Amino acid sequence: MTTLPADLIARLQEVLGPKGWSMADDVLARHNAEARHKFSGAASLILFPASTDEVARCAALCHQAGVALVPQGGNTGRCGGAVAGENAILINLARMNAVIIDDLDFSATVEAGCLLQNLQDAAVRHDLLFPLALGAQGSCQIGGNLATNAGGLNVIRYGTMRDLVLGLEVVLADGTIWNGLSKLRKDNTGYDLRHLFVGAEGTLGIITRATLKLFPRPRHIATAWCAVNDPQAALDLLARARRDSGDTIAAFELISRFAHDLCIAHLPGCTAPLAQTSDWYVMIELSSSRPVDDLTALLETLLNDAMTDGTVQDAVLAQSETQRAHLWAIREGIPVAQTLEGGSIKHDVSVPVSAIPALIERGIAAAHMLIPGIRPCPFGHVGDGNIHFNFSQPPGMTKPDFLARWDDLNRAIHDIVVDLGGSISAEHGIGLLKVDELAHYADPAKLKLLHAIKAAIDPENRMNPGKIIRNP
Ligand SMILES: Cc1cc2nc3c(=O)[nH]c(=O)nc-3n(C[C@H](O)[C@H](O)[C@H](O)COP(=O)(O)OP(=O)(O)OC[C@H]3O[C@@H](n4cnc5c(N)ncnc54)[C@H](O)[C@@H]3O)c2cc1C
Repeated sequence: MTTLPADLIARLQEVLGPKGWSMADDVLARHNAEARHKFSGAASLILFPASTDEVARCAALCHQAGVALVPQGGNTGRCGGAVAGENAILINLARMNAVIIDDLDFSATVEAGCLLQNLQDAAVRHDLLFPLALGAQGSCQIGGNLATNAGGLNVIRYGTMRDLVLGLEVVLADGTIWNGLSKLRKDNTGYDLRHLFVGAEGTLGIITRATLKLFPRPRHIATAWCAVNDPQAALDLLARARRDSGDTIAAFELISRFAHDLCIAHLPGCTAPLAQTSDWYVMIELSSSRPVDDLTALLETLLNDAMTDGTVQDAVLAQSETQRAHLWAIREGIPVAQTLEGGSIKHDVSVPVSAIPALIERGIAAAHMLIPGIRPCPFGHVGDGNIHFNFSQPPGMTKPDFLARWDDLNRAIHDIVVDLGGSISAEHGIGLLKVDELAHYADPAKLKLLHAIKAAIDPENRMNPGKIIRNP
């Protein structure tokens, strides 16, 4: 059953042809689902346009009919951003997946439905690197990455999507196409519109194409797993590595003992990298595109020095690509391993790098006060000040009872984050999940500006309504 106007459906079907839409229950069930089961969509129609022109014609038709559009990429965002209500229509650009690499400009012009993994692979075929890398790269789309300003594992070296984007093409709510595709590294001609759409979570328009930066492909990579006493020691190691490694740090991840132990317990074939156990571990990766670099020797020296002065207790260097993949499998397997341990309450937060130890100490104390026996599972991109501050249910507590404390615990952790000068959303965005939290914590002037920008670009609130900010 659909509540959408029949003539709108017919006109959209005519624009898109038989491959360009679906009202089938199994297809809709897939696209209406939300992995965390905190939200579920109720869309009765999903559009699969094949070109920017088709996107624009669909947007214009929906606009005229007063029906909202919800852009959806790989649906991996985890905060309800790509969920559509029964009166809205989903639009997914999976059929728009072309990639054009420019070796001289070190850029790729990509249709927004391209999977992140496919762009990475296309860059490698040109001996280049597209550096965004994250656990969902096999399913998330470039449009979704841009709309959430995705970060991932290599932000410390290459930045987030905001740093990687040169130009955008966007379809606005009324079907207007803004062609801001550009390979320019310098362009000071007024407001930088691309940055309005990056991180806007589809609330201002549908990103249809992007020009993105590429980099020389690393020829040498050295990866190590280290035991450290506490998060402060991890920061000391980070500072040393920054000073002594000639800007070659590509990733720097913190893993708590609980997170490490969950992987060993739950992930098939996962073994502890070090014989000695530790309360905290760091995974560090150096990379270089210089033909002659010996990063293994550099990392060995760095870690020997850190062991001599007690910053690092023990360490192992990956001796092969298989060993390196094993270390990454542990780090990337943490969310899955935590799911297998029962209910988890998550915080995707960032603070200044120097405030990480305070965040972890104060956050764990506050969580224990609220829910005795709770099991903290902090891990993540400590080099960016971004910790996935997760908590597993206490033994003896049921999953529903634990998850019922989601908002209380979020508020306690977010209070600490904001007190430390941090952000309540480092990576995944606001979506539906954090609309109230954003309204609670945002500077009033910022909120006013967010509403003003939304009203200026999408005055009738047709693009992904209710996400980031409440409907006017
Ligand atoms: C296992 C896992 C690991 C992850 N690791 C990281 C990580 O390390 N770093 C990180 O930053 N994030 C991480 N994420 C979240 C990540 O940001 C998202 O997975 C990804 O960027 C979203 O892309 P998507 O195509 O799935 O978008 P969706 O989830 O489909 O949509 C996300 C938002 O973008 C909007 N959107 C989608 N496409 C478009 C478009 N073409 N135009 C306009 N708006 C659009 C949607 O409306 C929605 O608001 C992870 C997620 C998972 C599941």
